[in-house]
Amino acid sequence: LIAFMAMASCLSVVVSGHLRQIPAGGLPCELFALGIATKLRVGSNSTAKASSDFGRMVTAAPEAVLHPSTPADIAELVRFSASSPSPFPVAPRGQGHSARGQSLAGGGVVVDMRALASRCGHVNVSAGGATASPYVDAGGEQLWADVLRATLEHGLAPRVWTDYLHITVAGTLSNAGIGGQAFRHGPQISNVLELDVITGNGDMVTCSRDKDADLFFAVLGGLGQFGIITRARIGLEPAPKRVRWVRIAYSDVATFTRDQELLISKQAREAGFDYVEGQVQLNRTLTEGPESTPFFSSTDIGRLAGLASKYMTGTIYFIEGAIYYNESTAISVDQKLRSVLDQLNFEKDFLFTKDVSYVQFLDRVREEERVLRSIGLWDVPHPWLNLFVPRSRILDFDAGVLKGVFADANPVGVILMYPMNRDMWDDRMTAVAGDDDVFYLVGLLRSAVVADDVEQLERENEAVLAFCVNEGIGCKQYLPHYVSRDEWQRHFGDKWSRVAELKAKYDPHGILSPGQKIFSSPA
Ligand code: FAD
Repeated sequence: LIAFMAMASCLSVVVSGHLRQIPAGGLPCELFALGIATKLRVGSNSTAKASSDFGRMVTAAPEAVLHPSTPADIAELVRFSASSPSPFPVAPRGQGHSARGQSLAGGGVVVDMRALASRCGHVNVSAGGATASPYVDAGGEQLWADVLRATLEHGLAPRVWTDYLHITVAGTLSNAGIGGQAFRHGPQISNVLELDVITGNGDMVTCSRDKDADLFFAVLGGLGQFGIITRARIGLEPAPKRVRWVRIAYSDVATFTRDQELLISKQAREAGFDYVEGQVQLNRTLTEGPESTPFFSSTDIGRLAGLASKYMTGTIYFIEGAIYYNESTAISVDQKLRSVLDQLNFEKDFLFTKDVSYVQFLDRVREEERVLRSIGLWDVPHPWLNLFVPRSRILDFDAGVLKGVFADANPVGVILMYPMNRDMWDDRMTAVAGDDDVFYLVGLLRSAVVADDVEQLERENEAVLAFCVNEGIGCKQYLPHYVSRDEWQRHFGDKWSRVAELKAKYDPHGILSPGQKIFSSPA
């Protein structure tokens, strides 16, 4: 044995005068002879970045990261793995804003989808006309913030938004994409008209409700299991210019949920708020949390803490609502707001309003990100737990979790609680909705400020899940994370056999998105 030469992650080894290539990692050497070889990065700088995610709870290092120039590059990679005698995992990664390693590919290849944005990325708007409805064709790698910017140039915008816009189109469509407009228009996946997908066999397929519908429905909410989305066609509506943004406080959970459900009911869908969410401030949050927030001034927080102290549980709930308007409807916005508020039973004098541009409203979490970054609370572990809780058990959940398990919980983070209508979800899609005709998202979005917090927060999360099981609450995880096949089967329920069948059809080697840990993967 005479010499070693490093060629990507293969070693060229000269043995007795003959050049032989052996893989230095788990990837086959032939991979580095493909046309995409120059776009594969194996250096630790690249692989380290793709080894973790926003959650900072899981790490898994890939052998290489692909920086594709076109969707065809991704297809070449997937086709190679699928036809290799030893297939390796491939995970498309958007912004890597998952919390539990869902975009990782230990021992395989991560596809940095964002590389497409700078090379061939696109957001093309079709403004529609007398007979056609407007839509946008957006690369799966695009950030929702960029989709917003491009569509607004045409006075248009998608109907449903996640709270945070600096995540990718395909990353949210792989889950569902929910927010305060979902009660009216369904999750983002309900607003998709067509997709370009690279399957786990490396085939490039354009699919819709009418063409290759099984792939279309599989991929929406499909947790990256059936294909890599490279383009999504999404319906648009005329964009408003401004938003009247309100928060109203409640001390009683039954009144809070009754009012929320009124606001998302059929009659309110016609004439009420355009956006409905809700938050919970636990006992200690108002006294030990930040002195002010981008929404509440320190005076507001002081008043709210005073309100909380009047009640034994100290828990305060907010409905967050928004009414969209523009020049022609500005004159009636106050009247509309008054007529909506007149039907509600919030704490007198605890109405907080802001008037902001549509972009400021949609991009509001960016401001919170800036604040959190400035105090070192953004790049910390996020043991988040999101649950869909059926309407019929939300009060039990409140009593057992928010006033039980969390009675003394760490106040750092946000707790979301808002209802959605199940009839706006399409059961043919892989995404799993909550039970009951109305179900709540309860987002336990807490941060671990010091390392010890992680264990404590995880213990509390486990206690929450145990409570849900023991009390038969019927919770479903959103952005799900399970470790066993049984749990995944329970999660998908009636959908499981279909999910397994479609996986066998579209990703028979189990290559795609192994970080979800649903199926066995090759590595
Ligand atoms: P990644 O984390 O990169 O990927 C997520 C999954 O999708 C992985 O399994 C990955 O392999 C797969 N994937 C990525 N790209 C593709 C592709 N092109 N084709 C197929 N599969 C792909 N969610 C909501 O619904 N509503 C909210 O309001 C909301 N707010 C959030 C706020 C913050 C601050 C954060 C951090 C997250 C929030 N989320 C919300 C969750 C977010 O939607 C998901 O974590 C989403 O997956 C993040 O997108 P991403 O681009 O970072 O995806």
